[in-house]
Amino acid sequence: MAVFRWLLAALLLFAANAFAQSNADRLVTSALSNTRAYETLSYLTDEIGPRPSGSANAAQAVAWTTAQFRAWGIDVRTEKVTVPHWVRGDERARLVSHNNQKIVLTALGGSVSTPAQGLTADVVEVSSYDELKQLGTKVKGKIVFYNNPMDAELVKARHSFEAYSRVVIYRGSGASRAAEYGAVAALIRSVGSASLRTPHTGAMRYDPKQPKIPSAAMTIEDAELVHRLLARGDRVRMHVVLTPKTLPDVESANVIAEIRGSEHPEEIVLIGGHLDSWDLGTGAIDDGSGVAMVMETMRLIKESGLRPKRTIRGVLFMNEENGLNGGRAYFASHRNEKHIAAIETDAGAAAPTGFTTTLKGAALDTIVAKSTALDRLGAHRFEYAAQTGADTSFLIESGVPGFGLVPDPLHYFDYHHTPADTLDKIDPKELAQDTAAIAALAWTIAGE
Ligand code: ZN
Ligand code: ZN
Repeated sequence: MAVFRWLLAALLLFAANAFAQSNADRLVTSALSNTRAYETLSYLTDEIGPRPSGSANAAQAVAWTTAQFRAWGIDVRTEKVTVPHWVRGDERARLVSHNNQKIVLTALGGSVSTPAQGLTADVVEVSSYDELKQLGTKVKGKIVFYNNPMDAELVKARHSFEAYSRVVIYRGSGASRAAEYGAVAALIRSVGSASLRTPHTGAMRYDPKQPKIPSAAMTIEDAELVHRLLARGDRVRMHVVLTPKTLPDVESANVIAEIRGSEHPEEIVLIGGHLDSWDLGTGAIDDGSGVAMVMETMRLIKESGLRPKRTIRGVLFMNEENGLNGGRAYFASHRNEKHIAAIETDAGAAAPTGFTTTLKGAALDTIVAKSTALDRLGAHRFEYAAQTGADTSFLIESGVPGFGLVPDPLHYFDYHHTPADTLDKIDPKELAQDTAAIAALAWTIAGE
């Protein structure tokens, strides 16, 4: 009898261990079964809409997210961030050399305007800064057109971010480089991996040493048309009207929510996404979904009644898109605090695959070994990267270990920064899985 009793006890113990769920597992379960992430994202995108820095919508997003945290019983505050306020005006173009065919384009964020009546000039195509340099002052008085497609093979191999970073340089500094040789405007081929004649915007910067010329992105289809005409030997002349304005800076805010640690409250695990978006779509993939993941992670932890040993801080950054002023302001105020990790989510909401991380070796091995809750999400791949996020880049440069959520990147740049970045591109199940991955990693580092 004693043997049986012993056996039964041993069996029960074994079963208890086998079915014991860690707290990270519990959070994953509730993130998958009890999610409100999509509801949050719906409000941000469908009710509030596009949230460009300095806009009334961005201010509404700050107020609404703050109120939500408060309604969920989570400590929250806002911290001042001064942001640029650039507004898009009219944008239209036509090929005066080819029956006034319409060219679909969109101004790049930060661009100056053309004269009110527009400008008309010949178009010169280049595919690199070297080529521009060779042409030199031959581009004087002309529109320089940078025609650089994203490498489709890299995208297919799911190195979309690398393909993006290789060509986005022409968006960032193409205007000033062309202005150096006397060009009157700069156009780029939209930086995207797909297009239904959807133009792709994004930030550009002026070199203060060069004259400021207007800059816009043509859709991939329009870029191909201009390329075909030029390749045929045609003279291509375009009329372009762009009337964006830079208004005075606006006082905006980062939203900072916190669940204090029970044992080491001074040690902080930051999870963050950005509240601002571009104005063409409603910023569902960039970065409404990241905001929803951060808010939902905080809500789930609060609702679970679990208390992490270290502080988990959810930060909704303002102005990632055209200034990074939120990331900079956060770093200026909090650089002396002890951040254990900075986890950023700003890469869409497709199914999670894992994280990029600045950690290597034993430090990474320890976290990987503890991150078993990520296994059932298929999100257990950790890949080294020197930078794992934009808003958290200042923390990371100061030595804080960084993590960046990696949802499947295959289709991210099909929609990113275009009018097609809308709620319908988000699968609620995948958004819940991403939230679960953020919650699991944050808990693994902060919780026990
Ligand atoms: Zn973003
Ligand atoms: Zn963006």
